[in-house]
Amino acid sequence: MVVVGLGRFGGALALELVNLGHSVMAIDVNPKTVQAYANRLPHVVAADTTDIETLRQLGVGDAHRAVIAIGTDIEASIMTTSLLVDLDLPDIWAKAISRDHGTILSRVGAHHVVLPEHEMGERVAHLLSGRMLDYVEVDTDYAMVKTTPPQELVGVPLSASRIRARYGVTIVSVKKETDGPDATYTHTTADTTLMYGDHILVVGTIHDLERFV
Ligand code: ADP
Repeated sequence: MVVVGLGRFGGALALELVNLGHSVMAIDVNPKTVQAYANRLPHVVAADTTDIETLRQLGVGDAHRAVIAIGTDIEASIMTTSLLVDLDLPDIWAKAISRDHGTILSRVGAHHVVLPEHEMGERVAHLLSGRMLDYVEVDTDYAMVKTTPPQELVGVPLSASRIRARYGVTIVSVKKETDGPDATYTHTTADTTLMYGDHILVVGTIHDLERFV
């Protein structure tokens, strides 16, 4: 896997990938940045990724996946993405700092575009707006939410609550408060009865989840 740009986003990403056991070639144009990561990343190189010859010499074209984590220098971000597309990398992820930047990266051929600041802003809005304890969007319109049971579900077996028919959402897991600090999530059954203080994982469309929570 190749990570280009070791700013805050790319640096954290490369370190986490290495922690997860992936083999990562990390590239940044700034030798000081490269130096700062030398002890923590096994394979980190100082190079300008807007140059096709440099990319060829580094063997970037042999990688299956790359993440372009250059944000501020939009020209370098677009140029690097376009060269990696020319090298036929099968899975190219690119970070954008604005929606327009993201649109251009997609048009140039990036397979996935992430907007970390926008996405985190939206996520925090969901956390602040209701009773959600955590929120993960898994598709443009589909999400999983961690929350506590609303009053109407407390003390009623899930089969009797008709929760799916009424809200269109599914409660997939529960962590019982009565199991104490060592409690873990287990999948729900028709007989599961929720109590105040339990934590539940609920999946559904974002619209249905907002209505439920
Ligand atoms: P963040 O907001 O995540 O910190 P930045 O855009 O500030 O992201 O950081 C991007 C990184 O990409 C910087 O470390 C910069 O040196 C690096 N970078 C910029 N242009 C190039 C390039 N042409 N080739 C390789 N790395 C680059």
